[in-house]
Amino acid sequence: MKIDTLKGVGPKKTVMYEKMGIRTTEDLLNYFPDSYVDYRNPKALDQLMDGEKALTCGEAVLLTPDRKRGPKSTLRILFKDGSDKMEVVFFNSPYLQKTVKIGKKYYLYGRVGTFNGRRNMVNPIIMDENVVKKEILPVYRTVKGISQSEMRKNVKTLLSQLKTEEYLPEEIVKRNGLCPPDFVFENIHFPKNREHFKAAMYRKIYEELFIMQLGMEMMKNPQRDGIVMEASANGYTDLLPFELTDAQKKVLRDIEEDMESGISMNRLVQGDVGSGKTAVAAAAMYKAVKSGYQAVLMAPTEILAKQHFESLAPVFKKAGVSVRLLTGGMKAAERRETLSEIREGSCQIVIGTHALIVDDVIYNNLGLVITDEQHRFGVNQRIKLGEKGESPHILVMTATPIPRTLAVILYGELSMSVIDALPAGRQEIVTKEIKEEQRAEMYLSLKKEFAKGRQAYVVTPLIEESESLENVSSTETLYGELKKLYGDSVSMAIVHGAMKQSEKDSVMENFSKGKIDLLIATSVIEVGIDVPNSTVMVIENAERFGLAQLHQLRGRVGRGKHQSYCYLINKGTGDVAKKRMKIMCSSSDGFYISEKDLELRGPGEIFGVRQHGLPDECIVDAVKHVDILEAAQRDAREFAGKTGKIVNYKVVKMFDGNFSIGL
Ligand code: ADP
Ligand code: MG
Repeated sequence: MKIDTLKGVGPKKTVMYEKMGIRTTEDLLNYFPDSYVDYRNPKALDQLMDGEKALTCGEAVLLTPDRKRGPKSTLRILFKDGSDKMEVVFFNSPYLQKTVKIGKKYYLYGRVGTFNGRRNMVNPIIMDENVVKKEILPVYRTVKGISQSEMRKNVKTLLSQLKTEEYLPEEIVKRNGLCPPDFVFENIHFPKNREHFKAAMYRKIYEELFIMQLGMEMMKNPQRDGIVMEASANGYTDLLPFELTDAQKKVLRDIEEDMESGISMNRLVQGDVGSGKTAVAAAAMYKAVKSGYQAVLMAPTEILAKQHFESLAPVFKKAGVSVRLLTGGMKAAERRETLSEIREGSCQIVIGTHALIVDDVIYNNLGLVITDEQHRFGVNQRIKLGEKGESPHILVMTATPIPRTLAVILYGELSMSVIDALPAGRQEIVTKEIKEEQRAEMYLSLKKEFAKGRQAYVVTPLIEESESLENVSSTETLYGELKKLYGDSVSMAIVHGAMKQSEKDSVMENFSKGKIDLLIATSVIEVGIDVPNSTVMVIENAERFGLAQLHQLRGRVGRGKHQSYCYLINKGTGDVAKKRMKIMCSSSDGFYISEKDLELRGPGEIFGVRQHGLPDECIVDAVKHVDILEAAQRDAREFAGKTGKIVNYKVVKMFDGNFSIGL
């Protein structure tokens, strides 16, 4: 249901929620907390760590009001518990002078700081110990205009209406000791205790993996006859302005052999960022077309689809192949025309996002399906697409290195090729960790690059300032900050996921045409964007990104002939953040980096859930949860064997839409 059907959500809040990517009640249910506050266990005063946001409890022992009145008034209150004392400063809260009683205990929730060498808190949330419910409360990533308590209330309302009957087969529920479906959402949002939370997470993860594995089983058909495609891809590669690298040639040969073999291709192509996967994919599409079939290329985002289209269309035009782009922003008439061309076969290659290509498109004779950056796709989409052609060849491209054993579980029985070298002449990207005090200087130094005509990206974790996440920069604040720093000498623009597609497109277009010097973005630009003239990638709050993601982001620069730079602004203090920065600064090898990523993340620790909590991410981490994955695979195989395809399909359909695998 639409989010505004929920009691307590009016038009204003609907807009706020939309900004957070929450449009339906289902979205809200699946918007998991960023962290939790455990009101059952406040920290002792001597356990508080500088800089952390924490809950503590203490007895008020001394009130020191100042004489000023009005907005600048300050009130100091000294609290103590058995372990230590702490002074707390309240600005502009004169009423507390009357309500806070000496000798009574209060809960305090806020950021721990230091003042004159002693621990303190400024304007924490203060609560009477007797009225605090001793429970675990979620903390959500919100935007301005929605408070934690409002959001909690909305989620609570929704949870109270939830009533789901068990939909998984009984024996699977029993065997894996799964909790009931409603329990999952209740305890992910409002965990009763650690055990309940773990049980809820377990089911959530198991479920996603089980359904994915059912999808795998449905698609599996090793002896499937494939279309024989014999035309050569040389007609395409001869038209390219460069010669394919040996690594590209080798992979293209694997692909051509598959397509000629008479058995349906199911191949995964791995290649580090910038290794030139697109050219290989395009050559395969050419081969399909010249053999008399249609081919589609699916991208994870519209921006990327558009970019693929723009870079490929000119070469295909020369080759006499007709290519169409399918986007959400198309006018109805244009869309209708494109769809009819696809149906009649006069359009030979279609490029677009998965949703568009998968849903109401009827193909004339689909022979090849390529998905770019596959780890962002749900299995559903692949299944649906497979149903469009008789048994089209399937090619999957990814920059995320996956160990072979895992790839087989994730993608089924597939063959794998690796583009293991970059095109010649690429320069190593200079990567540096930037401390807070070097930040301004670094931003100023970018002016030199702009003066040379180069361009830069700045990536931040958030779209706008969040009340729940202090110290995390957003596109909007940064824009203001940098505008002050650069004045009008640098042209800047913002791009993020909550913008309208047409707005995003026009920003990206202006950036790739060089009309924008500096692009301030969220990680929407993570995958695939190719603007060779950009030479600087600045990542704000780099500690909030995983290694694989940092590597992807860095891969947006160093794509042309100019020396490129990556600056990681690290506000993290933890060991893991430090190690990540060190790895990034010392290596540019995607395979090495992803291995280290695994090591650092390790198994276990799920009470904390997400690595960086971006909305499009899902909670399943196939690497971390490999045990659950194995159980899910075993069950799915058994279940598929027993029930046949039709039942499987129902199960898959229930979760239609987006579940993807977060690698
Ligand atoms: P990715 O593997 O990350 O998808 P792309 O396919 O986007 O990489 O290629 C990165 C850049 O390298 C593009 O600008 C592309 O035109 C260029 N490129 C690809 N192959 C070669 C090659 N053999 N020689 C020179 N440049 C190449
Ligand atoms: Mg790519």
